[in-house]
Amino acid sequence: MSPTTEDYYSLLEVGRNATPDELKKAYRKLAMKYHPDRNPGNKEAEEKFKAISSAYEVLSDDTKRRQYDQLGHEMYTKGGRGGMGGMTAEDIFAQAFGGSDFFSNLFGGGRRQSPNAPVEGDDLLYELQIDFEDAMFGLERKIDVPRSETCGVCKGSGCEPGTSKHTCPQCNGSGQMTMSQSFFSIRQPCSYCQGSGSVIEKPCHACRGQGTVRRRKTLTVRIPAGVDTGSRLRLAGEGEAGLRGGPPGDLYVRIRVRPHEIFSREEQDLYCEVPIPFHVAALGGDIEVPTINGKVNMTIPAGTQTGAELRLKGRGVPSLSKGRPRGDQYVKVIVEVPTNLSRDQKEKLQAFAGACTDNIHPRLKAFIEKAKRFFK
Ligand SMILES: [Zn+2]
Ligand SMILES: [Zn+2]
Repeated sequence: MSPTTEDYYSLLEVGRNATPDELKKAYRKLAMKYHPDRNPGNKEAEEKFKAISSAYEVLSDDTKRRQYDQLGHEMYTKGGRGGMGGMTAEDIFAQAFGGSDFFSNLFGGGRRQSPNAPVEGDDLLYELQIDFEDAMFGLERKIDVPRSETCGVCKGSGCEPGTSKHTCPQCNGSGQMTMSQSFFSIRQPCSYCQGSGSVIEKPCHACRGQGTVRRRKTLTVRIPAGVDTGSRLRLAGEGEAGLRGGPPGDLYVRIRVRPHEIFSREEQDLYCEVPIPFHVAALGGDIEVPTINGKVNMTIPAGTQTGAELRLKGRGVPSLSKGRPRGDQYVKVIVEVPTNLSRDQKEKLQAFAGACTDNIHPRLKAFIEKAKRFFK
């Protein structure tokens, strides 16, 4: 990189006796204006950005500034000291402003996240198995959730009370190290502070410097009537603790409903099978049918066939969304053929068989017709 010929003070548009604060302000203003992200593809802006970064790198360092003032611009840069000492313009920029916190706010991008930025906690998922009836009526359940919480002793800082964090001496708080090899520079997370930019003087005894501790918390979950397997309930802020003051994540409770002996469910409707004696199927009559809210009477019309489905309106699953009606219940009729007949019963049934005519079994009659044509 060819050192600029322009005087560093005039590059930053400040006087020779500018205070460090004035220098920083001036650099900030210009750096924002010429930053490559704001001027994509603009070579001139990029050169300018590099030049003002070089200038700021020298003038923001007391020792370098004194040398620069003594030697003058030409002598100082001729001595090969005008370059950026292994740092890129981006590095100088990040270091001047303590990472890119304000930078990402300004540009709306998460580019180069500051190592000390707050991080939101992870979401947690809890599987909860409940009974079929509980899914129908809703319930309150206490659950025990193991999760991380912000350490109460150090308030999440990881420092033993009364001590504090220091800026990492190796990376000066940037969390990154730049290795220079001829024309290339490679940026890596600082090995001394693991990229956090700071080091804990004395770790908190309660969390061993983590800032969070694992704990079990008992939470009450209100499960609304109508949930099904796969329903997810969100408990805002009950997930893992955030880092460095970040908000906690959420807890999701995923419902699994145990199968029922009698009922099955499809969407908002309930299904069940009810066996009926064959004389009730033939003659019709009232039978008792189970519903989720108790027994109800149902009328079986005369001539009901096995497999027929009868509907009980509004006896299904309550809707999760308010104002929407409950589903229905469908009763599938299974006609049971009598077994273990006594002699008397057999005789009566034989008398009935003798009285049977073609037209009382229309399906059988139709089938016999088809079969006759088939065998011809
Ligand atoms: Zn702690
Ligand atoms: Zn470091």
